[in-house]
Parts: sequence; C-alpha cells; structure tokens
Amino acid sequence: MNLENFEIIYKENRIEIKNKQKMKEKLIEIVGDGNVSIDKIDLLAYSRDSTLITLNWTIQGKIAGLPDFVVWPENKAQISEILRLANNEKIPVIPYGEGSGVVGGAIPIYGGIIVDMKKFNKILEINDKDLTATVETGINGMNLERYLNAKGYTSGHIPQSLYISSLGGWIAHRAAGQFSTKYGKIEDMVLGMEVVLPQGNIIDFKPIIRASTGPQLNKLFIGAEGTLGIVTKATLKIWPFPEKRALISYAFPIIEDSFNATREIMREHIFPAVIRIYDQFETERHFVDIEQAKDKVMVVFVCEGNKKLVELEETITKEKCENNKGINCGEHPVEHWFETRFRVTETSTMPPYKIVFDTLEIASSWDNAAKIYHSVIDSVNSLKGILIISAHVSHFYPNGVGIYFTLGGVPPKGKTEFEFYQKCWDTTIRGVLDAGGSIAHHHGIGINRSHWMEEEWGKSMDIMRNIKRLLDPNNILNPGKVYTHIWKGSES
Ligand SMILES: Cc1cc2nc3c(=O)[nH]c(=O)nc-3n(C[C@H](O)[C@H](O)[C@H](O)COP(=O)(O)OP(=O)(O)OC[C@H]3O[C@@H](n4cnc5c(N)ncnc54)[C@H](O)[C@@H]3O)c2cc1C
Repeated sequence: MNLENFEIIYKENRIEIKNKQKMKEKLIEIVGDGNVSIDKIDLLAYSRDSTLITLNWTIQGKIAGLPDFVVWPENKAQISEILRLANNEKIPVIPYGEGSGVVGGAIPIYGGIIVDMKKFNKILEINDKDLTATVETGINGMNLERYLNAKGYTSGHIPQSLYISSLGGWIAHRAAGQFSTKYGKIEDMVLGMEVVLPQGNIIDFKPIIRASTGPQLNKLFIGAEGTLGIVTKATLKIWPFPEKRALISYAFPIIEDSFNATREIMREHIFPAVIRIYDQFETERHFVDIEQAKDKVMVVFVCEGNKKLVELEETITKEKCENNKGINCGEHPVEHWFETRFRVTETSTMPPYKIVFDTLEIASSWDNAAKIYHSVIDSVNSLKGILIISAHVSHFYPNGVGIYFTLGGVPPKGKTEFEFYQKCWDTTIRGVLDAGGSIAHHHGIGINRSHWMEEEWGKSMDIMRNIKRLLDPNNILNPGKVYTHIWKGSES
C-alpha cells in the first residue's frame, strides 16, 4: 500500500522532506526507537481529526492530509529538541491531543511531524487549600475527571467529547464544557501553563489567580491552536464535588420565550451549571416522548453545589420559567439528557448514505440571539440539498449565549460533497456575521474558519500574524491553520 497513491485532499502545500531516513534517525536520537513511527497504519491514523467531512472522505478512500512521522515524546526537553530540529530543517510540526477537534486543527496539511501528546498523562499535584490541580496536557479528559471525582473534586469542564479529548486540545481550542455556565470555559480555569515555543525555548507561566503585571501574555497561548507553542503542563482550578443537584425542565411555546426566561435567570446572577435550550426541531428529535413538549422548545437545567444555594437557585429558575410561559416537565427530561449526553451516533450514521453532516457553534449577544438563530435557520434551509438544520443553545452569560447549529444534506447535482460542505459552513457564518454574531464559540478556527478571520477581527488580524511571525519565523508550528486561507470560501 502506498498512501501517496490515495487522493490526498490537502496536498497543495505539502513540503517534501529530502532525506527522510536521516530525519527519522535524528528523531530516534531524541525520543528513542519505540517513540517514532513511519508505519503506514500510523501515518493513516494521524491523517485526520474528527472533522465530520473527513469521515465522508475516509469512506471513499480519501486522505485528509498525510504526515511524514509520528512521535510520542515523554518530556518537555524532548519536545524542545524536536522543535529545534524541525525549525532548523524547516519541517512542519503538528501537536496532536486526541484528534477530536472538528475544524481540521490537527490535520497535517503540509505533512511533517505529528507530536502526539498522549505520554504527557500525569496528574502532578492536587492542592486542596488552593483548589488547584497541576496536570500534564496530554491527559484524557475522562481520566482526569474520574481521578478528581474519586478525590472529592470536579474540574467542572465536561465537554461532550470528554472521553475522546485532552487537556492540551481544550486549551488549544478554548473549549467549553456542558457545565460551563457555572464553572466557566477552559480559559477561566487555567491559572498557569508551561509552553515549548516553536524554536525550542521553554517558558513557564506561574499559576496566578490574577495580576496587574502588564498584558497577560499567558492568554496568548489559550486558543492558539498549536500554532504558537506546545502546551506541556497546566494548573487548573478545581471545585469540591457538588453536594446537591437539582434537575429542572420546562417547555416553552417559542424560542424567544426560552431566551427571555434564561436571560432573566442570568440577570439575577444565578448560574445553573447546565442550561440547554433545544429548538422545536431538536426537541422533537431528543424529547419525543415528553407530551408537554410536543411542538415546543425544551429547556433543561441542572443547578448544583451547596444544598441551600441550589434550593434557592431552583426556586428562582422555576419562577423565571413560569413567568415566561414555561410548562414544568419535571426531572425526567434531564435524567434522559444525563443518560444520552455523550451519545453522538447520529453523526456517524450519515456519511455512508453520502449525507454531509456537521455542527457549528457561534456566539451572540442577547440582543442579536433570536435574529441570528432565525437568520441561520432560514438561510441554510434555502440551500439546495439541505435536509436538516436545527439548533440548541448550551452556553449562557449575563450578556449573551453560545448557539450550536446542526445541519445535514446531500450535495445538489454538479457539486461535490466538499463543495456542498463549504457552502453550508459559509452560509451559516455569513448569516451569523450579518446578524452581528461572532464566528466561533468553542470549536476553534482550524482550517474551516480561517478565511473568515479578517472579517471577525478586522485590523487586529495583522497583529496576530505579526505575533506568529515573531514566535515562529519559519512557520513550522501547525502551519496552514488560523491565519491562512486554505479554504478559498464558497461565496463568490
Ligand atoms: C463528539 C464530539 C463532541 C465534542 N464536544 C465538544 C464540547 O462539548 N465542547 C468543546 O469545546 N468541544 C467539543 N468537541 C470538539 C473537540 O473535542 C475539542 O475541540 C477538543 O478541545 C479537542 O481536543 P483534542 O485533545 O482531541 O485535540 P486535537 O483534535 O488533537 O487537536 C486540536 C488542536 O489542538 C492542538 N493541540 C493539541 N494538543 C496541544 C498541546 N498540548 N499544545 C498545543 N496545541 C495542542 C492541535 O494542534 C490542534 O490544533 C467535540 C468533538 C466531538 C468529536
């Protein structure tokens, strides 16, 4: 089997490595024989992440992007040496967590060295007094959470991908978990970090709760998607495991009523750990057996923490829902959500039928939320070939929300699956930008959104590119992501 004979989707910019054997020997010198692979099966395994279109390609025998080497370093000194070597030889390096990213962030579109972080899996310290955990970043999310739970804590960061993602990936994409409304997003949780820079220097941001010490440079590496440095260690906030949980659900006549109720809860400075609004299409899909929710908008809440506070939060949450035409549906819908919250089988059942399927999350102020919701639903619905478009809202702030769209369809005649996929993405993002929203809430930029970054950031994009040039003059660290227009965009 010669992998290069397969169609490689992202091949235009591939950098040919002249003496691969020599490079392999140098990598072995750094990490040892068992920690370097050029086996075809490994190269294939690291040719994609979980971006859904890559599943359609896999079924058709197409490869997203092909790396030249996979390495498994065991300590920061090895990562530093790998980066020094790659920088000298001008070879791309792609940090790899668990490959659950959904925007192409870990796809090796230029080839090069995949640095798999899985051996960085240690929990180094739990500090009960400070409520912190210091952890290596390759750790699997579920392993971290199980360990913390057994010790009487929670990280509060429970993404749907908990079983299949790593701390490093969360930091790289500014991830958000299902309990984010109470505990915050990953950037609210990280207090300190260790980062290996593209030219091999190692920097350490000590854990600080806050400081008035100039611009907070550490934030630059949260959301950098592996383009500015490889994060090797982080100190996170943790919380005592909640004493009590209250499960609440209400059905609302229309989405605007559910927005009003949840916005009013946020205004009271009440933060249920989980709030999820399902529009009427998703309510039909997920809560078909709840009679009171038929043709309505289901909202589930989980309030958790100190027993007395939870009781108060429950009372106020219920009041706000009932004041906004909410019908109490009891605990059962929330129990159902708990049972099914990690289940994503529907997404992988589509590609075998040549259905293009994906999910996109965006951010909005309260003022624009209903406008964005309707504008995206209407504009995507008007695309030829669309079969479904729906949304849920799962991250709440006193000032706005994160909205998560799910779409699927079949390419119209004359269009490839990829062209149709790009059209769906661009139509959604255009709808969001025109209605005043922000293009990504927690999945990141990767390849899929990079051509929208100018419109999102305006002139600040020049500054971001300059920072990238300063830290990574040879553009070796995860090239082709965030700052580059690999997708040309389907608007023209
Ligand atoms: C079924 C499913 C459900 C999901 N649910 C959620 C959710 O609820 N919330 C959410 O936020 N996301 C969710 N995601 C998206 C995905 O899990 C996140 O983006 C996650 O943060 C990626 O982590 P990973 O370890 O798999 O990273 P990877 O996919 O391996 O890599 C992602 C990016 O991080 C970089 N990277 C990885 N490790 C490091 C490191 N140590 N240092 C620097 N850069 C690094 C990579 O280069 C790449 O750019 C979901 C994905 C799937 C498939």
